[in-house]
Amino acid sequence: MVAVIGIPLDENSSYLQGAAQAPAKIREAYNSPSSNYCAENGIDLSQSSRWKDLGDLSLPAGAPAIQEIMKKVSAALQLHNRVLCLGGDHSVSYPVVKAVAGKYPGLNILHLDAHSDLYDDFEGNRYSHACPFARIMEEGLAKRLVQVGIRTLNPHQRKQAKKFGVEIIEMKNRTDSRQFSFDGPVYISLDMDVLDPAFAPGVSHHEPGGLTTRQVISIIQQVQGNIVGADIVELNPVRDINGMTAMVAAKFFKELLARLINNINSVSK
Ligand code: MN
Ligand code: MN
Repeated sequence: MVAVIGIPLDENSSYLQGAAQAPAKIREAYNSPSSNYCAENGIDLSQSSRWKDLGDLSLPAGAPAIQEIMKKVSAALQLHNRVLCLGGDHSVSYPVVKAVAGKYPGLNILHLDAHSDLYDDFEGNRYSHACPFARIMEEGLAKRLVQVGIRTLNPHQRKQAKKFGVEIIEMKNRTDSRQFSFDGPVYISLDMDVLDPAFAPGVSHHEPGGLTTRQVISIIQQVQGNIVGADIVELNPVRDINGMTAMVAAKFFKELLARLINNINSVSK
């Protein structure tokens, strides 16, 4: 069973607020009569009993929110095998990954983003949305961290990547033919700004030169490994145009959910 959990937190967003409104907007787009509930592999998600929406977490203000996310996602993982979390800014991924790694040792992470989010701290905040993968790596929560779509590396982040052994496929070097394959459990962290702003204007950080919607869908569909968790973060509905980025997030939601459900089938859990 896959648990879907909304995490409406944007306090750790350094530039703009708004991502806290994303879980509601993704659900609204998912339920829009303009489309249907089928993933491209043919699963009708509205007819599947293999996933459950647990609603949004209610969170305290400030730093305790991070701890609370970890506790609540860990609790959900005692009842359900897998999680799909809807952020929120990217700071939510550190506590979610910590919970998932607690259940699945030897976790691999596939991280799609314009940014490597490896800052040791950002403007004095170690839980900033610019830092989650530094926290994850320094706590040894990931066996491998593979980042795709990165196009904003600065000297500090290059140093951090080297220190933590992060495998970065920068946007300038990526090719459609590259296959992603992992040994053991896999977590997919999907920052909406990995897309070119032409495909996803509803994000806080417009970083030109990104992936297309179809390239991201292909990665989700083709990655080889046992997907045990995922998140979709950084949709900022305040900046969206006609809800089009929310619709893209809902499309990714359907494709990720289909993968998570399929994995359950294939490993019979
Ligand atoms: Mn990010
Ligand atoms: Mn980003």
